[in-house]
Amino acid sequence: MKLAIVGYGGMGAWHHENIRARIPEIEVVGAYDIREERQEEAKKQGLRTYNTFDELVSDDSIDIVTIATPNNFHKKQAIRCLESGKHVICEKPVTMNADELEEIIEVAKKCNKVFTVHQNRRWDRDFVMIKNIVESNTIGKPYMIESRVLGSKRVLNGWRGAKENGGGMVFDWGVHLIDQILYLTDSPVVEIYGHLFSIFSKEVDDNFKALFKFENGLSAMIEVATNCFIPQARWHMSCEDGTAIIHDWSCNGTIIKLKDESELAWSDVIVYTEAGPTRTMAPRPRETTEELPLPEVTTDWSDYYRNVIDHINGKADLIVKPEQSLRVMKVIDAIFESHRTQSMIKCRI
Ligand code: NAD
Repeated sequence: MKLAIVGYGGMGAWHHENIRARIPEIEVVGAYDIREERQEEAKKQGLRTYNTFDELVSDDSIDIVTIATPNNFHKKQAIRCLESGKHVICEKPVTMNADELEEIIEVAKKCNKVFTVHQNRRWDRDFVMIKNIVESNTIGKPYMIESRVLGSKRVLNGWRGAKENGGGMVFDWGVHLIDQILYLTDSPVVEIYGHLFSIFSKEVDDNFKALFKFENGLSAMIEVATNCFIPQARWHMSCEDGTAIIHDWSCNGTIIKLKDESELAWSDVIVYTEAGPTRTMAPRPRETTEELPLPEVTTDWSDYYRNVIDHINGKADLIVKPEQSLRVMKVIDAIFESHRTQSMIKCRI
Protein backbone atom coordinates (compact mmCIF):
# COMPACT_ATOMS: atom_id res chain seq x y z
CA MET A 1 0.00 0.00 0.00
CA LYS A 2 1.14 3.50 -0.76
CA LEU A 3 0.91 6.13 1.95
CA ALA A 4 1.25 9.90 2.05
CA ILE A 5 1.72 12.11 5.09
CA VAL A 6 0.03 15.44 5.68
CA GLY A 7 1.99 17.56 8.15
CA TYR A 8 5.66 16.55 8.00
CA GLY A 9 6.63 17.92 11.42
CA GLY A 10 7.84 15.99 14.45
CA MET A 11 5.19 13.30 14.30
CA GLY A 12 4.86 13.17 10.51
CA ALA A 13 8.60 12.47 10.20
CA TRP A 14 8.32 9.91 13.02
CA HIS A 15 5.62 8.02 11.11
CA HIS A 16 7.81 8.05 8.00
CA GLU A 17 10.92 6.84 9.77
CA ASN A 18 9.14 4.07 11.66
CA ILE A 19 7.04 2.80 8.77
CA ARG A 20 10.16 2.74 6.59
CA ALA A 21 12.12 0.82 9.22
CA ARG A 22 9.47 -1.55 10.48
CA ILE A 23 6.53 -2.02 8.12
CA PRO A 24 7.51 -3.40 4.72
CA GLU A 25 3.83 -3.75 3.76
CA ILE A 26 3.61 0.04 3.41
CA GLU A 27 5.59 2.35 1.18
CA VAL A 28 5.58 5.99 2.22
CA VAL A 29 5.72 7.86 -1.08
CA GLY A 30 4.70 11.45 -0.48
CA ALA A 31 4.17 14.32 1.93
CA TYR A 32 2.65 17.75 2.13
CA ASP A 33 3.43 20.44 4.71
CA ILE A 34 2.56 24.13 4.65
CA ARG A 35 6.10 25.04 5.70
CA GLU A 36 8.73 25.11 2.99
CA GLU A 37 11.49 23.83 5.26
CA ARG A 38 9.47 20.74 6.10
CA GLN A 39 8.74 20.16 2.40
CA GLU A 40 12.51 20.31 1.84
CA GLU A 41 13.11 17.83 4.66
CA ALA A 42 10.53 15.43 3.19
CA LYS A 43 12.31 15.66 -0.19
CA LYS A 44 15.63 15.02 1.50
CA GLN A 45 14.11 11.87 2.98
CA GLY A 46 13.22 10.68 -0.50
CA LEU A 47 9.55 11.66 -0.61
CA ARG A 48 7.60 13.21 -3.42
CA THR A 49 6.17 16.51 -2.15
CA TYR A 50 2.96 18.12 -3.29
CA ASN A 51 2.58 21.85 -3.78
CA THR A 52 -0.87 21.90 -2.22
CA PHE A 53 -3.07 19.67 -0.10
CA ASP A 54 -5.45 19.42 -3.09
CA GLU A 55 -2.63 18.03 -5.20
CA LEU A 56 -2.04 15.29 -2.61
CA VAL A 57 -5.67 14.26 -2.35
CA SER A 58 -6.01 14.09 -6.14
CA ASP A 59 -3.11 11.64 -6.43
CA ASP A 60 -4.90 8.38 -7.25
CA SER A 61 -1.86 6.27 -6.49
CA ILE A 62 -2.18 6.98 -2.76
CA ASP A 63 -4.13 4.38 -0.74
CA ILE A 64 -3.70 5.73 2.79
CA VAL A 65 -3.12 9.20 4.21
CA THR A 66 -1.66 9.74 7.67
CA ILE A 67 -2.67 13.14 9.05
CA ALA A 68 -0.15 14.67 11.48
CA THR A 69 -1.06 18.35 11.46
CA PRO A 70 -2.09 20.44 14.50
CA ASN A 71 -5.42 19.26 15.87
CA ASN A 72 -7.75 21.90 14.46
CA PHE A 73 -6.95 20.84 10.88
CA HIS A 74 -7.75 17.15 11.34
CA LYS A 75 -11.48 17.21 10.61
CA LYS A 76 -11.35 19.11 7.34
CA GLN A 77 -8.33 17.21 6.05
CA ALA A 78 -9.71 13.80 7.05
CA ILE A 79 -13.02 14.45 5.31
CA ARG A 80 -11.30 15.61 2.11
CA CYS A 81 -9.06 12.53 2.05
CA LEU A 82 -11.97 10.13 2.65
CA GLU A 83 -14.07 11.81 -0.03
CA SER A 84 -11.12 11.44 -2.41
CA GLY A 85 -11.13 7.68 -1.88
CA LYS A 86 -8.32 7.33 0.63
CA HIS A 87 -8.19 5.43 3.89
CA VAL A 88 -7.22 7.74 6.73
CA ILE A 89 -5.05 7.39 9.82
CA CYS A 90 -5.43 10.49 11.94
CA GLU A 91 -3.22 11.64 14.77
CA LYS A 92 -4.67 12.14 18.23
CA PRO A 93 -6.66 13.98 19.44
CA VAL A 94 -8.69 13.09 16.41
CA THR A 95 -10.75 16.30 16.50
CA MET A 96 -11.55 19.30 18.68
CA ASN A 97 -14.77 17.70 20.00
CA ALA A 98 -17.11 14.74 19.60
CA ASP A 99 -19.41 16.47 17.07
CA GLU A 100 -16.53 16.92 14.64
CA LEU A 101 -15.63 13.26 14.90
CA GLU A 102 -19.23 12.24 14.25
CA GLU A 103 -19.07 14.17 10.97
CA ILE A 104 -15.94 12.26 9.94
CA ILE A 105 -17.45 8.90 10.89
CA GLU A 106 -20.49 9.65 8.71
CA VAL A 107 -18.29 10.49 5.72
CA ALA A 108 -16.11 7.40 6.22
CA LYS A 109 -19.22 5.21 6.21
CA LYS A 110 -20.64 6.91 3.13
CA CYS A 111 -17.32 6.58 1.26
CA ASN A 112 -16.73 3.06 2.56
CA LYS A 113 -13.18 3.92 3.62
CA VAL A 114 -11.29 2.99 6.76
CA PHE A 115 -10.83 5.73 9.31
CA THR A 116 -8.80 5.22 12.48
CA VAL A 117 -6.94 7.24 15.09
CA HIS A 118 -3.28 6.76 15.97
CA GLN A 119 -3.78 5.80 19.64
CA ASN A 120 -0.28 4.34 19.70
CA ARG A 121 -0.05 4.29 23.48
CA ARG A 122 -2.24 1.21 23.58
CA TRP A 123 1.06 -0.49 22.67
CA ASP A 124 3.04 1.00 25.59
CA ARG A 125 4.50 -1.80 27.75
CA ASP A 126 3.34 -0.23 31.02
CA PHE A 127 -0.25 -0.07 29.77
CA VAL A 128 -0.18 -3.60 28.35
CA MET A 129 1.03 -4.81 31.77
CA ILE A 130 -1.88 -3.09 33.52
CA LYS A 131 -4.34 -4.57 31.01
CA ASN A 132 -2.80 -7.99 31.56
CA ILE A 133 -3.13 -7.71 35.38
CA VAL A 134 -6.79 -6.69 35.02
CA GLU A 135 -7.67 -9.40 32.50
CA SER A 136 -5.83 -12.21 34.27
CA ASN A 137 -7.50 -11.25 37.55
CA THR A 138 -4.10 -11.54 39.30
CA ILE A 139 -5.16 -9.45 42.29
CA GLY A 140 -8.92 -9.45 41.84
CA LYS A 141 -11.29 -6.80 40.62
CA PRO A 142 -9.83 -3.29 40.23
CA TYR A 143 -11.76 -0.47 41.86
CA MET A 144 -9.35 2.49 41.53
CA ILE A 145 -6.81 3.06 38.79
CA GLU A 146 -4.52 6.06 38.88
CA SER A 147 -2.63 6.95 35.74
CA ARG A 148 -0.20 9.83 35.69
CA VAL A 149 2.22 11.47 33.29
CA LEU A 150 4.16 14.14 35.16
CA GLY A 151 6.79 16.38 33.62
CA SER A 152 8.38 19.67 34.56
CA LYS A 153 9.05 21.39 31.25
CA ARG A 154 6.50 24.12 32.08
CA VAL A 155 6.43 25.55 28.57
CA LEU A 156 3.98 24.29 25.94
CA ASN A 157 5.86 24.75 22.68
CA GLY A 158 4.34 26.35 19.58
CA TRP A 159 0.77 25.44 18.67
CA ARG A 160 0.45 23.24 21.81
CA GLY A 161 -0.01 26.49 23.76
CA ALA A 162 -2.67 27.87 21.38
CA LYS A 163 -6.37 27.34 21.99
CA GLU A 164 -7.40 27.63 18.33
CA ASN A 165 -5.04 24.74 17.41
CA GLY A 166 -6.39 22.46 20.12
CA GLY A 167 -3.44 22.96 22.46
CA GLY A 168 -3.29 22.04 26.13
CA MET A 169 -2.61 18.90 28.09
CA VAL A 170 -6.11 17.39 28.05
CA PHE A 171 -5.82 17.16 24.26
CA ASP A 172 -2.14 16.34 24.16
CA TRP A 173 -1.57 13.66 26.83
CA GLY A 174 -5.02 13.38 28.37
CA VAL A 175 -6.34 11.80 25.20
CA HIS A 176 -3.85 8.91 25.53
CA LEU A 177 -4.60 8.33 29.20
CA ILE A 178 -8.36 8.43 28.60
CA ASP A 179 -8.11 6.06 25.64
CA GLN A 180 -6.12 3.60 27.76
CA ILE A 181 -8.54 3.71 30.70
CA LEU A 182 -11.58 3.28 28.42
CA TYR A 183 -9.85 0.37 26.67
CA LEU A 184 -9.73 -1.43 30.02
CA THR A 185 -13.50 -1.64 30.44
CA ASP A 186 -16.69 -1.68 28.38
CA SER A 187 -18.65 -0.30 31.30
CA PRO A 188 -20.10 3.17 30.61
CA VAL A 189 -18.60 6.22 32.32
CA VAL A 190 -21.33 7.69 34.50
CA GLU A 191 -19.57 10.55 36.31
CA ILE A 192 -16.74 12.84 35.20
CA TYR A 193 -14.96 15.56 37.08
CA GLY A 194 -12.27 17.66 35.44
CA HIS A 195 -9.96 20.10 37.18
CA LEU A 196 -7.76 22.11 34.83
CA PHE A 197 -4.93 24.49 35.68
CA SER A 198 -3.38 27.19 33.54
CA ILE A 199 -0.33 27.97 35.63
CA PHE A 200 1.91 29.36 32.91
CA SER A 201 -0.14 29.12 29.75
CA LYS A 202 -2.36 32.06 28.86
CA GLU A 203 -4.79 30.12 26.68
CA VAL A 204 -4.90 26.44 27.52
CA ASP A 205 -4.60 23.95 30.38
CA ASP A 206 -0.98 23.09 31.19
CA ASN A 207 -1.78 20.73 34.10
CA PHE A 208 -4.98 18.81 34.89
CA LYS A 209 -6.63 16.06 36.87
CA ALA A 210 -9.78 14.17 35.93
CA LEU A 211 -11.80 11.67 37.88
CA PHE A 212 -14.12 9.08 36.32
CA LYS A 213 -16.66 6.69 37.73
CA PHE A 214 -17.84 3.73 35.68
CA GLU A 215 -21.19 1.98 35.99
CA ASN A 216 -19.52 -1.28 37.10
CA GLY A 217 -18.00 0.39 40.19
CA LEU A 218 -14.53 1.06 38.78
CA SER A 219 -13.11 4.54 39.35
CA ALA A 220 -10.12 6.11 37.65
CA MET A 221 -8.03 9.20 38.12
CA ILE A 222 -5.77 10.62 35.46
CA GLU A 223 -3.30 13.42 35.92
CA VAL A 224 -1.02 15.26 33.52
CA ALA A 225 1.45 17.82 34.81
CA THR A 226 4.09 20.05 33.28
CA ASN A 227 5.20 21.57 36.57
CA CYS A 228 5.90 18.54 38.76
CA PHE A 229 9.35 18.11 40.33
CA ILE A 230 8.72 15.06 42.50
CA PRO A 231 7.39 12.24 40.36
CA GLN A 232 4.63 9.86 41.36
CA ALA A 233 4.05 6.42 39.88
CA ARG A 234 2.98 6.15 36.24
CA TRP A 235 0.32 3.63 37.41
CA HIS A 236 -1.11 2.78 40.81
CA MET A 237 -3.93 0.25 40.75
CA SER A 238 -6.02 -0.81 43.73
CA CYS A 239 -7.73 -4.17 43.34
CA GLU A 240 -9.80 -6.17 45.83
CA ASP A 241 -6.90 -8.57 46.61
CA GLY A 242 -3.84 -6.40 46.16
CA THR A 243 -2.10 -3.41 44.66
CA ALA A 244 -0.03 -2.96 41.52
CA ILE A 245 2.41 -0.16 40.91
CA ILE A 246 4.40 0.76 37.80
CA HIS A 247 6.78 3.59 38.53
CA ASP A 248 7.97 4.64 35.11
CA TRP A 249 8.13 3.98 31.37
CA SER A 250 10.93 1.49 31.98
CA CYS A 251 8.31 -0.55 33.85
CA ASN A 252 9.97 -0.71 37.25
CA GLY A 253 7.29 -1.77 39.66
CA THR A 254 5.68 -4.59 41.57
CA ILE A 255 2.50 -6.34 42.61
CA ILE A 256 1.62 -7.03 46.23
CA LYS A 257 -1.01 -9.70 46.63
CA LEU A 258 -2.87 -10.69 49.77
CA LYS A 259 -2.21 -14.32 50.78
CA ASP A 260 -5.19 -16.59 51.33
CA GLU A 261 -6.53 -16.60 54.88
CA SER A 262 -4.21 -13.70 55.60
CA GLU A 263 -6.78 -11.90 57.73
CA LEU A 264 -6.50 -14.73 60.27
CA ALA A 265 -2.74 -14.54 60.36
CA TRP A 266 -2.71 -10.85 61.24
CA SER A 267 -2.83 -10.07 64.94
CA ASP A 268 -3.68 -6.52 65.86
CA VAL A 269 -1.03 -3.95 66.61
CA ILE A 270 -1.71 -0.40 67.60
CA VAL A 271 0.52 2.23 66.11
CA TYR A 272 1.09 5.36 68.15
CA THR A 273 1.83 8.44 66.13
CA GLU A 274 2.81 11.74 67.74
CA ALA A 275 -0.79 12.84 68.23
CA GLY A 276 -2.64 9.59 68.71
CA PRO A 277 -3.10 5.86 68.20
CA THR A 278 -4.36 3.98 65.11
CA ARG A 279 -5.13 0.33 64.59
CA THR A 280 -6.62 0.69 61.07
CA MET A 281 -3.39 2.06 59.63
CA ALA A 282 -1.07 -0.39 61.38
CA PRO A 283 1.52 -1.81 58.96
CA ARG A 284 0.53 -5.21 57.58
CA PRO A 285 2.96 -8.03 58.49
CA ARG A 286 4.94 -9.13 55.43
CA GLU A 287 4.01 -12.80 55.81
CA THR A 288 0.35 -12.01 55.03
CA THR A 289 1.22 -10.86 51.52
CA GLU A 290 3.30 -12.03 48.62
CA GLU A 291 5.20 -9.94 46.12
CA LEU A 292 4.76 -10.81 42.45
CA PRO A 293 6.73 -9.55 39.49
CA LEU A 294 4.93 -7.47 36.89
CA PRO A 295 3.77 -9.70 34.03
CA GLU A 296 6.06 -10.36 31.09
CA VAL A 297 4.49 -8.77 28.05
CA THR A 298 5.68 -8.16 24.54
CA THR A 299 4.36 -5.27 22.52
CA ASP A 300 5.11 -4.09 19.04
CA TRP A 301 3.85 -0.69 17.95
CA SER A 302 4.09 -1.71 14.28
CA ASP A 303 1.09 -4.01 14.90
CA TYR A 304 -0.94 -0.79 14.77
CA TYR A 305 -0.21 -0.26 11.07
CA ARG A 306 -0.31 -3.98 10.32
CA ASN A 307 -3.78 -4.15 11.81
CA VAL A 308 -4.94 -1.23 9.66
CA ILE A 309 -3.72 -3.03 6.53
CA ASP A 310 -5.30 -6.33 7.57
CA HIS A 311 -8.54 -4.49 8.23
CA ILE A 312 -8.45 -2.78 4.84
CA ASN A 313 -7.94 -6.23 3.30
CA GLY A 314 -10.88 -7.63 5.25
CA LYS A 315 -8.67 -9.92 7.34
CA ALA A 316 -9.05 -8.40 10.82
CA ASP A 317 -11.20 -6.25 13.02
CA LEU A 318 -9.87 -2.73 13.46
CA ILE A 319 -8.10 -2.36 16.83
CA VAL A 320 -8.61 1.39 17.21
CA LYS A 321 -12.24 1.74 16.24
CA PRO A 322 -13.82 5.15 15.46
CA GLU A 323 -16.60 4.43 18.00
CA GLN A 324 -13.94 4.05 20.70
CA SER A 325 -12.39 7.36 19.69
CA LEU A 326 -15.87 8.90 19.84
CA ARG A 327 -16.17 7.72 23.44
CA VAL A 328 -12.80 9.34 24.18
CA MET A 329 -13.89 12.64 22.61
CA LYS A 330 -17.17 12.62 24.57
CA VAL A 331 -15.18 12.17 27.78
CA ILE A 332 -12.92 15.08 26.78
CA ASP A 333 -15.99 17.25 26.06
CA ALA A 334 -17.28 16.37 29.54
CA ILE A 335 -13.92 17.22 31.19
CA PHE A 336 -14.01 20.70 29.63
CA GLU A 337 -17.69 21.08 30.59
CA SER A 338 -16.95 20.01 34.16
CA HIS A 339 -14.14 22.53 34.41
CA ARG A 340 -16.28 25.30 32.89
CA THR A 341 -19.23 24.69 35.21
CA GLN A 342 -17.09 23.67 38.19
CA SER A 343 -19.29 20.66 38.68
CA MET A 344 -19.33 16.92 38.32
CA ILE A 345 -20.92 15.79 35.03
CA LYS A 346 -23.40 12.92 35.10
CA CYS A 347 -23.30 11.05 31.83
CA ARG A 348 -23.48 7.68 30.10
CA ILE A 349 -20.52 7.40 27.74
P1 NAD B 1 4.61 19.70 14.71
O1 NAD B 1 4.33 21.14 14.90
O2 NAD B 1 5.98 19.17 14.95
O3 NAD B 1 4.21 19.26 13.23
C1 NAD B 1 3.03 19.68 12.60
C2 NAD B 1 3.36 19.97 11.15
O4 NAD B 1 2.14 20.27 10.47
C3 NAD B 1 4.27 21.17 10.98
O5 NAD B 1 5.40 20.82 10.20
C4 NAD B 1 3.41 22.23 10.28
O6 NAD B 1 4.12 23.04 9.39
C5 NAD B 1 2.40 21.34 9.56
N1 NAD B 1 1.13 21.99 9.28
C6 NAD B 1 0.47 22.91 10.03
N2 NAD B 1 -0.71 23.20 9.44
C7 NAD B 1 -0.78 22.46 8.32
C8 NAD B 1 -1.75 22.33 7.30
N3 NAD B 1 -2.88 23.02 7.35
N4 NAD B 1 -1.49 21.48 6.28
C9 NAD B 1 -0.32 20.79 6.23
N5 NAD B 1 0.63 20.88 7.15
C10 NAD B 1 0.40 21.69 8.19
O7 NAD B 1 3.55 18.92 15.60
P2 NAD B 1 3.60 17.38 16.00
O8 NAD B 1 4.16 17.24 17.33
O9 NAD B 1 4.18 16.61 14.87
O10 NAD B 1 2.02 17.05 16.11
C11 NAD B 1 1.24 16.80 14.98
C12 NAD B 1 0.06 15.92 15.37
O11 NAD B 1 0.57 14.69 15.90
C13 NAD B 1 -0.82 16.50 16.47
O12 NAD B 1 -2.15 16.11 16.26
C14 NAD B 1 -0.28 15.86 17.73
O13 NAD B 1 -1.22 15.81 18.79
C15 NAD B 1 0.08 14.49 17.22
N6 NAD B 1 1.12 13.79 18.00
C16 NAD B 1 0.92 12.50 18.33
C17 NAD B 1 1.84 11.81 19.07
C18 NAD B 1 1.58 10.38 19.40
O14 NAD B 1 2.37 9.79 20.15
N7 NAD B 1 0.54 9.77 18.87
C19 NAD B 1 3.02 12.45 19.48
C20 NAD B 1 3.24 13.77 19.09
C21 NAD B 1 2.27 14.44 18.35
